[in-house]
Amino acid sequence: MFKKLLFISICFLGVTSVFPQKKFTRADTLIGSITPERAWWDVTHYHLKVKVNPSEKTIEGSNTISYKVLEPKEVMQIDLQAPMKIDKILQDGKEIFYTSEGNAHFLKLQKKQKKGKEEKITIYFSGKPIEAKRPPWDGGFTWTKDSNGKPFIATSNQGIGSSVWWPLKDHPSEEPDNGVTISVTTPKDLMDISNGRLIKVIETDTTKTWVWQVVNPINAYGVDINIGDYVHWGEKYKGEKGPLDMDYYVLRENEAKAKEQFKQAPMMMEAFEHWFGPYPFYEDGYKLVEAPYLGMEHQSSVTYGNNFENGYLGRDLSGTGWGLKFDFIIIHESGHEWFANNITNKDVADMWIHEGFTAYSENLYLDYFFGKIASSEYVLGTRNNISNDRPIIGVYNVDNSGSGDMYYKGANILHTVRQLIENDEKWRSILRGLNKQFYHQTVTSRQIEEYISKESGIDLTAFWNQYLRTTKIPKVEYSIKGNDLKFRYANTVENFDVPVIAIVNDKEEWIFPTSEWKTKTFAQPIETFQIKKDFYVNSENLK
Ligand SMILES: [Zn+2]
Repeated sequence: MFKKLLFISICFLGVTSVFPQKKFTRADTLIGSITPERAWWDVTHYHLKVKVNPSEKTIEGSNTISYKVLEPKEVMQIDLQAPMKIDKILQDGKEIFYTSEGNAHFLKLQKKQKKGKEEKITIYFSGKPIEAKRPPWDGGFTWTKDSNGKPFIATSNQGIGSSVWWPLKDHPSEEPDNGVTISVTTPKDLMDISNGRLIKVIETDTTKTWVWQVVNPINAYGVDINIGDYVHWGEKYKGEKGPLDMDYYVLRENEAKAKEQFKQAPMMMEAFEHWFGPYPFYEDGYKLVEAPYLGMEHQSSVTYGNNFENGYLGRDLSGTGWGLKFDFIIIHESGHEWFANNITNKDVADMWIHEGFTAYSENLYLDYFFGKIASSEYVLGTRNNISNDRPIIGVYNVDNSGSGDMYYKGANILHTVRQLIENDEKWRSILRGLNKQFYHQTVTSRQIEEYISKESGIDLTAFWNQYLRTTKIPKVEYSIKGNDLKFRYANTVENFDVPVIAIVNDKEEWIFPTSEWKTKTFAQPIETFQIKKDFYVNSENLK
């Protein structure tokens, strides 16, 4: 029970557990698929303007969507979740009317949409957005106060979707090619930190408007608002692509603690640029921003609420001690800049691309600073969090992510691939290659799987099918008679023939099991036998 609870608490998704028999609704299809009303237009830019009123817990604003017409159609789907309301929609100064089906709104454009043309539409909205009960897992707005009684406000909406507070095309395959501009108006004594760079502050007698600009494509759930009485410091990090601005924002009361703890941010940058290649958003800078919840990978404004201590809220998720050598939220959430923000899933069913690789990044951080044994012990330790309840890959086109095993089973299968490749420089070049090949793109799991197969020279098709699409863990069955080892795989999908290292009389030997029995004769009688633990397989001596 405890494990299960722990496990749920590390799952950053607001999505409820879904078993195969779950019936999906029309609403799931409207949010989770590329409907005809979404397919014909491609967002190039969002200009989101929001005024935040802390005393009423309301927001009001507009989103000007720039888009390219891919097909000449006139009905456009925009998502905005109740109780937020659309107040008005304008295109070229003319009002646009719409019908609604739940949280999906179908706009009937008056203007003929011509293929290849760039158009704009502005949606005005207002309301009292859903308050997050357990951010970041359920998502919405969080309205709290700091110890000086000043408002401390933030958005988090990974599972529930950005349309919980602003109108957009709320599907992960859509990233605005030219980024977003986010203008947030706050009471005068507060500050807003959003994504990208602060380009302007507009003051009135009572308010300040903070204008942030992101020039790179950004995933919608990454767009965030963080409002508080922040203090700011920063540094120029000498990175692979030159000087990188790293900026830090924390509540005044936490400045001293944060200045110490956030020293791990440049360490993180050093380790991850080594393993994954250059930070993917030099133009937008990197920021670590205190938020009133645990944390989230908001692109170029990673949010942080891990009490300025190592571990995951002070705990070690691996149970090995290594998890207390780093601040889980600084490392994990920043790891997502490469896997989630740079390489983004086209459909949340493939979210293991975000969470598997990022959970894996935790042990690569350890590997960089503490060595290979630390990294291996950590990733093996996290196996206790695996439940094998459902496949890692969810159901496509219905906003359904797979099992929470996408985290630590994901990490362990990547650790297994590292063993199979048996060449750490090659493995590193594959991880870096992924970030180059799929730079600023949305992708499918198949693309990632095929890339790794191709670059490693190992056909991993059955491997991925086994671990990502079933809950079955391969089992090496064996028996020993004198010098002879008889072995085979059980519990595998068709054609699963991944070799493993066996430790025979303390010596490492590759063996090549398939579903057929094989016999291998050793020079000496076999005294001891085990499969090397770095391979995520089970084994059983049938005697
Ligand atoms: Zn994560």
